Amino acid sequence: MIKWLNNILSKELFTRKPKIRCIICFLPATHDLTICSREFNTNNEKEITITICSGCNDEIYERYNS
Ligand SMILES: [Zn+2]
Repeated sequence: MIKWLNNILSKELFTRKPKIRCIICFLPATHDLTICSREFNTNNEKEITITICSGCNDEIYERYNS
């Protein structure tokens, strides 16, 4: 999941649009979403913050908050 999001994030950075957009659907963004991953064995943490719209925020929340 993190790899997938990083790919999308990289694409968005290269387009350099002046308006902040949802990195999933490119509608105007309304939320910051911070993603933190920690490796089981080493406890190494990685954290990224992405911008998303409220629709995608709801979708991610429903999909992964179980
Ligand atoms: Zn969206």
